[in-house]
Amino acid sequence: MDQKQHGVPHAGERWSRIAVVGNTVVAVDFEGELLIRRSQVAKQRVAVVGAGFSGAVIAHRLAAAGQSIVVFEARQHPAGNCHTARDAVTGIMLHAYGPHIFHTDDETVWKFVNRLDDFVPYVNRVKAISRDRVYSLPINLLTINQFFGRTLAPAEAREFVASLGDHAIHTPCSFEEWALRFIGRELYEAFFEGYTLKQWGIHPSLLPASIIKRLPLSFDYNDNYYRHRYQGIPRHGYTTIVERLLDAQNIELRLGTQAAPGIATEFDHVFCSGSIDAWYDYAYGPLEYRTLDFERLDAEGDYQGCAVMNYCDASVPWTRISEHKHFAPWESHAMTVCFREYSRRRERGDIPYYPVRLVHERAALQRYVAHARQQERVTFVGRLGTYRYLDMDVTIREAMDAAQRFLDCLERSAKMPAFNIDPMAS
Ligand code: UDP
Repeated sequence: MDQKQHGVPHAGERWSRIAVVGNTVVAVDFEGELLIRRSQVAKQRVAVVGAGFSGAVIAHRLAAAGQSIVVFEARQHPAGNCHTARDAVTGIMLHAYGPHIFHTDDETVWKFVNRLDDFVPYVNRVKAISRDRVYSLPINLLTINQFFGRTLAPAEAREFVASLGDHAIHTPCSFEEWALRFIGRELYEAFFEGYTLKQWGIHPSLLPASIIKRLPLSFDYNDNYYRHRYQGIPRHGYTTIVERLLDAQNIELRLGTQAAPGIATEFDHVFCSGSIDAWYDYAYGPLEYRTLDFERLDAEGDYQGCAVMNYCDASVPWTRISEHKHFAPWESHAMTVCFREYSRRRERGDIPYYPVRLVHERAALQRYVAHARQQERVTFVGRLGTYRYLDMDVTIREAMDAAQRFLDCLERSAKMPAFNIDPMAS
């Protein structure tokens, strides 16, 4: 049997191994799980724009299948907005672009990331200040009892909150309608109206209900911010994970390099995880995003006693304060570093964070999508490429699927589409 090894990140160590058996490429991960088994496909030169999770997962998967990859990253570090780095002064692992807590129900994704680092179980227990009082968030039985000065049991609380809802609203569409219908005006005004106005710069009456539906509402004392089966934080940070993904002989990472559409001529295919509007030089206008500013606070000991404290009142200019050493409770540090987080409209040159995706933006997006579909050999992926707000696990899953689709297309000599998911659908 003709068997040879090639394109192996850390051959024989934790990473996927690839072997050519006759005319078939077989790639397995370090535990022996089959990743790819397919007829050998032509070796392609692929450009990946952006070294965040989308780009890194695609590069990793294609490299494992023997393709040759160049990753272009405009910043001086990989990992995009998930970037983590130890603070030079305190030694605390900082989430440079705001807190990232990994949570998923996707077992394949969870196994995948756990091969790249040890994920320490972590439960996000957020606190919120509203009108000078501290509450548990997301709204749970403790919040309800704290807020209303009651000692309600679960069934009583459910009934009580239901009685607060505005039953004249039959089909709640907006954020505000949904809140008024299901939790009532008092809780809405205390926890959501001001915060959301600061976060989005738009009144909740003009925002979709999907935003508030991200948060669970519970009638027990479960104050876990997420309801996913798997939750954790990587012991060595997200940047280590992305570096490991990109650590392969056939991946070249070019940091500090802004890629322009012109690179398409040098490659067989381009995966773009950067902003679709920037790629087309804002031809149909900029897509609106919220950007974040962070104000650093250094202190001794423990500043606020928890990782995240939300500030729900409109009169406080920041939305939340995150204290990063609490994201690594397995470490101990004498000093502490916190960041006040401010949200504002993204201007050119600012880092895009949250896609706004309202009616006007969807119309512009539609034009970019139509344009992209006319082009060949460029596929847009990820949060910025598809202009959707994605959690990390979904980003990874979609990147795995896009890489798989590309390999399938190669095998069948079919055309890889501009999008592996429809950006207009959600
Ligand atoms: N939200 C709020 N008050 C809070 C926390 C969240 O009004 O204390 C709203 C806000 O509009 C936010 C949305 O709920 O955008 C979703 O919250 P999530 O924590 O998922 O936001 P993210 O962590 O993505 O910023």
